[in-house]
Amino acid sequence: MAGVGQERVVIVGGGAGGLTAALSFGRTGHEVVLLERDPLPVDADPEAAFTAPRRGAPQVHQTHGFLARMQVLLRERFPDVFEDLLAAGGTTMPTTANLGEPEPGDEDLKVIIARRTTLEWVLRRAARAEAGVDIRTDAAVQGVVGSKGQVWGVRLADGTIVEGDIVVAATGRRGDVPGWLAATGVDIPEEIHESGLMYLSRWYRLPPGFDVLGLDPKLGGDLGFVKYLGVPGDGGTLSITLAIRPDDGPLRAALSDPDGFERACRILPGPNQFFTGPDPEPVGGVRPMGGLLNRIRRFLDDAGHPRVLGFHAIGDAHTCTNPLYGRGVSLAMVQAVLLRDATVAHPGDHVARAVAYEAACARDVEPWYHAAVEMDRMGADPSGRTTMADNPIAHVFVAAQTDPVLGRGLARLWNLMATPQELAADPRYLERAAEVMANPDAYPIPPREGPTRDELLDALAGDAALA
Ligand SMILES: Cc1cc2nc3c(=O)[nH]c(=O)nc-3n(C[C@H](O)[C@H](O)[C@H](O)COP(=O)(O)OP(=O)(O)OC[C@H]3O[C@@H](n4cnc5c(N)ncnc54)[C@H](O)[C@@H]3O)c2cc1C
Repeated sequence: MAGVGQERVVIVGGGAGGLTAALSFGRTGHEVVLLERDPLPVDADPEAAFTAPRRGAPQVHQTHGFLARMQVLLRERFPDVFEDLLAAGGTTMPTTANLGEPEPGDEDLKVIIARRTTLEWVLRRAARAEAGVDIRTDAAVQGVVGSKGQVWGVRLADGTIVEGDIVVAATGRRGDVPGWLAATGVDIPEEIHESGLMYLSRWYRLPPGFDVLGLDPKLGGDLGFVKYLGVPGDGGTLSITLAIRPDDGPLRAALSDPDGFERACRILPGPNQFFTGPDPEPVGGVRPMGGLLNRIRRFLDDAGHPRVLGFHAIGDAHTCTNPLYGRGVSLAMVQAVLLRDATVAHPGDHVARAVAYEAACARDVEPWYHAAVEMDRMGADPSGRTTMADNPIAHVFVAAQTDPVLGRGLARLWNLMATPQELAADPRYLERAAEVMANPDAYPIPPREGPTRDELLDALAGDAALA
């Protein structure tokens, strides 16, 4: 195996997290082997990547928004990859218009407009170009090899053992990390909160000349029984998602039908802004996706000691958040970089590195798990009048639309640029939020804009006009 300075890193999974980890470790002089079970052919361009099947990560074909935190991470840590993404057709877009007088840091508050498949295409090319990174595709890992809490490699489906000083699970939502480690006698507890949602998404091509930057930045909405968003991508694409409860059979049936889906898009405020001029052209049918959960896995025991050495998880394999908040890919990339930083800070020291990495995750990632669970809880009323309306924070959200202090604070929060704890420690934000909460009637919650569930179902059935 490699010496302490250049440990050999085996990464399982070539999604956003695994590729970012491969780049991070490869560029630090580590020997990297990335094992991915999908074929991942070398696609000629973003369009080929867009149409390529992706069995191991089917969500790449669902709507994805990319937050300011990712833009800053790419710009600061991988500027060449950021340039490539822009050259491939990605753009950036300010997240909010109401910040008042510019302040330092405002320039960071820009999201990335790009298809998920284009982002991965760019990351794959960059990782493949690294001399120290060996990407092996069609390589399904069956489990880890190790004993007594120490992992030193992985076993492929064909029985081959691939050894490493560090094994990184970047296996996504469905990778069985606890099962793998249980086989070596390690118990990894996990907490799970189901989001109670399923996605129905459809892709479109926008008409030539469509002004994406002229869009209302509020691309989605929440009517309780349906939450929805329309997100443009590179290459003149648009993806629209209607998120519903999986047990709402009638709505699911109506919206799974391509015509029903499109009629709903024309009705719902937000998606409808894409249908006011020449029609966007649909690409394929309505893609369903369920099993959307919040989940966190605990790799330190109650005394703060690592449960396993030589093994780390990043991305969804570590912490998974409700996709509706658009945080998963940014957090997976953040964790890839945090793990590289902990490894560089503690070469050859499995214990110190695990403790440092998990402490960084507790600071930078875990708050978003709790925030997602809390937001899910507040917005979980399917009646259309969510419990948010009874929550004083809802008035702060209303005030933030015109108040620069609150607007900036929440824009930083939604974009992973400040954790809830950091926002709660900002005296200017706190003072304004307290003023609003003391005088909520000055910031009334506007009535929901859009149809009720029954009105929408009637309209989709075509036997009633919307009021
Ligand atoms: C419907 C939906 C919508 C989403 N929308 C957004 C969004 O708008 N913005 C956002 O930031 N995030 C979003 N997310 C979350 C985001 O997709 C995930 O957080 C992100 O993919 C996590 O990256 P990852 O690298 O951890 O895992 P993945 O991207 O899932 O990659 C895991 C990889 O591991 C491979 N793999 C798994 N097991 C093995 C094995 N045994 N051997 C070899 N390879 C293996 C898989 O084939 C896959 O390539 C969404 C998720 C869903 C489900």
